[in-house]
Amino acid sequence: MIYLTPGPSQLYPTIKQHILESLEDDIPSLSHRSEKFRSFVKDIYVDLRKLLDIPDDYHVFFTASATEAMERIIQNCVAEKSFHFVNGSFAKRFYQTAIELKKQSDIYSVDIGKGFDFKNVKILKNTELIAFTHTETSGGTAVPMEEIYSIGKKNKKALIAVDVVSSIPYVNIDYKKVDLVFFSVQKGFGLPAGLGLLIVNPRAFKKAESLRKKGFNVGSYHKFQTMLEQAQKFQTIETPNVLDIYLLKCVLNDMLKKGIDVIREETEKKAKMIYTFFDEHSEYDLLVTDKKFRANTVIVISTPNGSKKILDDLKQKGFTVGAGYGENKEKQIRIANFPAHSLKSIKELLNSFSN
Ligand SMILES: *Cc1c(COP(=O)(O)O)cnc(C)c1O
Repeated sequence: MIYLTPGPSQLYPTIKQHILESLEDDIPSLSHRSEKFRSFVKDIYVDLRKLLDIPDDYHVFFTASATEAMERIIQNCVAEKSFHFVNGSFAKRFYQTAIELKKQSDIYSVDIGKGFDFKNVKILKNTELIAFTHTETSGGTAVPMEEIYSIGKKNKKALIAVDVVSSIPYVNIDYKKVDLVFFSVQKGFGLPAGLGLLIVNPRAFKKAESLRKKGFNVGSYHKFQTMLEQAQKFQTIETPNVLDIYLLKCVLNDMLKKGIDVIREETEKKAKMIYTFFDEHSEYDLLVTDKKFRANTVIVISTPNGSKKILDDLKQKGFTVGAGYGENKEKQIRIANFPAHSLKSIKELLNSFSN
């Protein structure tokens, strides 16, 4: 079975072998205080920076999930007001987190599958953080990074936070132009779920320290201050998902060998094939009509005659594809296009749709 679901998804092709080796080496029993564990974290710090071109002074923290990272960002970096671009469920979760933490946050919300009108957006001067979901997994939209940089340039005082869960490592980010970036590993990295990463630049860290020193509640064990103390020792506060950390180290090494440029080119080639196929198909419509906002890593297709039969048929042929998200479950299907998905499997998938 090939999983083209937008998370969890198909494992990266090398993962089964890495898991077998990890069991032979007793990695799941390894202490998170051991030298060996610390060497995995060290390797991740080096290789993640190398693969994604992250500046050396940006901190890398481990979280349990991307959803956790949203909460940590709001707790540590927002005293009163954040601003959220929302066009689907994950961006909404980020906004909701701010509201639940009693912030006076603002929202610019458009329908699922739609882009934003960046020219006419009004962001108040006292906004401390602006939150983007780069690729909205529920609706298959992506915000062009240039638009994110330009909002950052116009709102210099605000920190820029970007959720890249379903677009990393494909998305090419100029990290100098953003302050906080986060993701979990079960989508683009093709790993088992249960691990998140949060990248924090010195400016965002400084904001967290100023809030903490002023007496704001910035959380308990996972406040930025203690996360940095542990990161500097290549450790974590709690017992983390040691196996997933080991597998991330392995997959980063595999991706470096393959080359990020190749991964990005392949992703674009596969995305183009999928979009062209459904653009030309008389039975289906693409949900995202404005090409500027189409995501290359999650493609959402409206299915006028329901999604269930299509998904069942595909399963018979060896493909598990995602249903629509939430209330669109029966009305859409979602196809993930991650580095774990080969060109061959995408071709076979498209051939499996009845013409
Ligand atoms: C899947 C997803 C999340 C949630 O990730 P978890 O690891 O389940 O917390 C957040 N944002 C986006 C864009 C996602 O696709």
